[in-house]
Amino acid sequence: MAEPLRSVVILGGGSAGWLVAGVLAAEWGARGQGSVQVTVVESPDTPAIGVGEGTWPSMRATLHRIGLDETELVRACDAAFKQGSSFQGWVDGSAADRYLHPFTLPTGADDADVAAAWLHDAPAQPFAHSVCVQPALCDAGLGPKQVATPAWGAVLNYGYHFDAVKLGLLLRRHATQVLGVRHVADTVTAVRSHDNGDIAALTTAAHGDIAGELFIDCSGMASVLLGGHFGVPLVRARGVLFNDRALAVQVAHATPDAPVACTTVATAHREGWTWDIALPERRGVGLVYSSAHTTDEAAEQALQAHLSRSAAGDLITTPRRIGFEPGWRERFWHRNCVAVGLASGFIEPLEASALALVELSAAMIRDELPASRDEMALVARRFNESFQYRWARIVDFLKLHYALGRRDDADYWREHREPRTLPDSLAEWLQLWQHRAPSRSDLYRHDEVFPVASYQYVLYGMGFRPRQARTPAAAGLQAARTRLQDNERLARRLMGGLPRHRELLQHIRQHGMPAAR
Ligand SMILES: Cc1cc2nc3c(=O)[nH]c(=O)nc-3n(C[C@H](O)[C@H](O)[C@H](O)COP(=O)(O)OP(=O)(O)OC[C@H]3O[C@@H](n4cnc5c(N)ncnc54)[C@H](O)[C@@H]3O)c2cc1C
Repeated sequence: MAEPLRSVVILGGGSAGWLVAGVLAAEWGARGQGSVQVTVVESPDTPAIGVGEGTWPSMRATLHRIGLDETELVRACDAAFKQGSSFQGWVDGSAADRYLHPFTLPTGADDADVAAAWLHDAPAQPFAHSVCVQPALCDAGLGPKQVATPAWGAVLNYGYHFDAVKLGLLLRRHATQVLGVRHVADTVTAVRSHDNGDIAALTTAAHGDIAGELFIDCSGMASVLLGGHFGVPLVRARGVLFNDRALAVQVAHATPDAPVACTTVATAHREGWTWDIALPERRGVGLVYSSAHTTDEAAEQALQAHLSRSAAGDLITTPRRIGFEPGWRERFWHRNCVAVGLASGFIEPLEASALALVELSAAMIRDELPASRDEMALVARRFNESFQYRWARIVDFLKLHYALGRRDDADYWREHREPRTLPDSLAEWLQLWQHRAPSRSDLYRHDEVFPVASYQYVLYGMGFRPRQARTPAAAGLQAARTRLQDNERLARRLMGGLPRHRELLQHIRQHGMPAAR
C-alpha cells in the first residue's frame, strides 16, 4: 500500500497561506481527524501584499468552520460588513450613473422569474432596487443584521471589509495556537526534488529542509514553486482586461463618526477605476489602471482628485504602487504542488473574487485531500478542470462591466468594449440576452463563482435591455409579480428594524455578538 499523506507544507503566510492552513488543519489536523501535520513557512523578509480588504459572504462560512469568533474578527481586524459593490460612473460617467450589485439574491428568485416580470412590467425602474431589499437598505446606511442576531447569522447576506494585515495576524494566531499549525519563520532558498520530479523538501535559510508530501504554493506573485520551480506558464489576460497596476492608500475618515459605507464603492474615472473600502477606523482606497493607457503620474493625480471629491481625511500611508501581470497559471496543481492565492494568478480587484478563489481552493483541497501520492494525479486533474472553468467565468463576468459601458472620454474605455477584446463565451451570452434574461441554462454548475443573479444585477444595472424580450407565461408572470410586491413590503419592514452600520459595529465592539446557534 502507498504511504498515507501525513504532512502538508504551505509556502507563504499571506491571507492565502493562513486561510488554507486554517481550513486544512481544522479538518485534518490535531483538532480534526488528527492525521496530517500542516506547516506554514513564511519569510520574515517578504511582507504579505497587505491589500485585499473586501470579501464575499462565503468568508463567513469559511471562518466559522475553522472556529474563529466573529466578534474577535470585528474587534481585531477593524472589520465592517460588506453588502455588495456600488458602481459609479461605469455607464456614461454622468452624475446619475450608479447602480448596485448586492449580495442578497432577488426576493423569490428560487421559484419565480422576477427578472422576466421586471422586464415586462417596469424596465424603467432600477433593477436591483425592484427585485431585492438590500439596495434601499444600503442607501439608508443600515447594517445587515440586528444587535440580537447571533454571530455568523444574517438578516441580509454580507461579507467583510477588514484590515488585511490584521486579518493575517489573527489567522496566524488562531492557526498556530488553536489548530496546531506549525509556523516556520524563514525564507525558502531552494527546492529539493525526488528522482521522479516531485518536491521532496523546501530548503530554508536557517531551519534546514522542511519535508512534506503535498506542497501548497501561497508565495504570492513570486509563485516560487509552481511558476518558479516548475515553470508552469501564465495564461495572460491583458488582451481582455487591460489593468496591470494599482495605487493603494489608506486615509482617515473625514470625521471619526462618518458613516461606514455598506458596500465597496467602485468609481470609474477616465484613467481607470477606484475602489473605496470603509472600515470603522479608516478607509482603504486605490486606483486600478492600465500602464498601456495611463501614466503613473496621471494615475496619481486621478487618485488625489478622487480623494478630494470623496471628502477623504488625512493620508495615513503614502500611495503605494503595485504592479501585476493579469492572468492565471495554465495548471494550478502540478505533481505534488498546488498553487493558491496570488501564486495561482490575479486579474484585477473588481468584484473582489481573489479571496473567494482562495476559499474555494482551500475547500477543494480539504474535501479531496489525496490519501496518498498515488491518488494525487486524479485529484490534480479534477482541481485543474474546476479552476480553469472558474477563472474563465471570472474573466467573463469582469469583462461584462467594461463591455456594456458607453464612456467616451478615453481609449481605455473605448478599447475595453471593442468586440475583438470580448471572450467568445461572453459575446455569445450578450447575443442570447437580447431575447431573454440570463438563466440557469447559461450558468448551470451548482457552484458557479458568480450566480445568474449577479449577471442580471450588472447587466440591467448598466442599462442593458433586450431588443425583443419574450412575454412570460401568464401564471409565471403573476407569481413573479407577487414576489416583486413581497420585496417592497419586506424592504419597508426592514427599514425600521435594522441599525445604522456604524452603530451596529460600535455595539459589537463594545458588547460582542450573541453566540452562534
Ligand atoms: C491592488 C489589489 C487589490 C486587491 N483587492 C482585493 C479585494 O478587495 N478582495 C480580494 O478578495 N482580493 C483582493 N486582492 C487579492 C488579495 O490581496 C490576495 O488574493 C490575498 O491577499 C492573498 O495574497 P497571497 O497570500 O496569495 O500573497 P501575499 O500576501 O503576497 O503573501 C505571500 C507570502 O509568501 C511569502 N513568501 C514569498 N516568497 C517566499 C520565500 N522564498 N520563502 C518564504 N516565504 C515566502 C511571503 O513572506 C508572504 O507571507 C487584491 C490584490 C491587489 C493586487
